[in-house]
Amino acid sequence: MKAVVALSVALAFATPLASAQDDPISTLVKQLELEKYKATIKGLTTFGDRRQGTQRNRQALDWIEAQLKSYGCTNTERLQYMYTQPAPGEPAKKRAAGLPSGGAGGPAGQGGSTLFGNRIPTGVNTDPMKQPDERLRALNAEQTPVGTSQRENVYCTKVGSKHPEEMYIVSAHMDGIGFGEAANDDGSGTALVMELARIFSMPGVETDRSIRFILWNNEETGLNGAAAYVEQRKDLQGIENPKGSGKYPEPKWLGMIQHDMMMYDHGMPIPKLDASGKPVLDDKGQPVYVSPPEQRREADVNIEYQAVSKQAEGSAKLAWAFRSANDKYASNYPAAVGFHMTNTDSTPFMDLVPSISMRENERGQQIGAGWNPNWHQPTDLYANYSDKDFLLGLNAAQTTLAGVAQLAGVRIRK
Ligand SMILES: [Zn+2]
Repeated sequence: MKAVVALSVALAFATPLASAQDDPISTLVKQLELEKYKATIKGLTTFGDRRQGTQRNRQALDWIEAQLKSYGCTNTERLQYMYTQPAPGEPAKKRAAGLPSGGAGGPAGQGGSTLFGNRIPTGVNTDPMKQPDERLRALNAEQTPVGTSQRENVYCTKVGSKHPEEMYIVSAHMDGIGFGEAANDDGSGTALVMELARIFSMPGVETDRSIRFILWNNEETGLNGAAAYVEQRKDLQGIENPKGSGKYPEPKWLGMIQHDMMMYDHGMPIPKLDASGKPVLDDKGQPVYVSPPEQRREADVNIEYQAVSKQAEGSAKLAWAFRSANDKYASNYPAAVGFHMTNTDSTPFMDLVPSISMRENERGQQIGAGWNPNWHQPTDLYANYSDKDFLLGLNAAQTTLAGVAQLAGVRIRK
């Protein structure tokens, strides 16, 4: 009996190393750590809400680029485009042609799936004075100048060793609004993309196909940074330049995976109660709703594609590939697939390449119904999230890391 026990102990000791060799994906997923993910979000919040067109936005972009380089993702590039900030009261320029407006209440099938139930009104805070923290109010004081000026996206690329001419795009938006810290929208997605760039850049990690890690600007003004990238680069796909160099400045797009608001899944708003336990009513006599204080037990990562896009079939396949990666590699939270992807930087891509977005909730029916009360508000602060919230973002990171590693073909060289 003793000998058997000793033998099984020896095996147990040997097994983890052996299985790590067999499954490089599992080895890489283990490199994701909650404290590192939190620290990167915290770093982003030192630039306030990172509103487009301001100095704090440009400083955040510089910081992100420096971080990517320090991780070993050294081939950083910037894509420049012009953006026109309308004068106050003047309507913003229309979205890029062909983009659905979507959102809750939008046309059915374009993200406007309807949710019957408790809702909290949503909107964007445009009043800097609504930020009670004086330090943060000062940090966010600069407004976007009116008129036309240059903006930038930043990215770096893991070049594929067998197929450098093909790539997956892993992205999030680095700009925010609302005069808070844009910690969740979209510091949580930006940190996820940065963490993946770090891990795929570790010594010895090789992928067959390329992966580009992109941080968009001007998401909040209408997906302008992502739309500019599509416009400038869609026709360069798969072209070797210079000829015979083996270099592909824009590898052919195989899939687009966007991350936007990753942490807060507290569920449907609940009635606000007064001290005696009675529902609080508004001035029209209707119940007032509030968000539950904790991550709900059913919290999950929501993977969405757009059923009315030209690439719906390929996008659905991509979504299910990530759903299955989550099944195999995520530590705490499951994933669900939906077909109402909308209002995010994957939208400009969705008719050209299989495209998905990953979020804390469904954008149309849940975020659109006020499930995240910090959305575009001064309360989108690092300090307002718990470890259960951060852990949902980390599980989305595990999901994308594993999914992309599988699709791009990963190995770890000795
Ligand atoms: Zn966002």
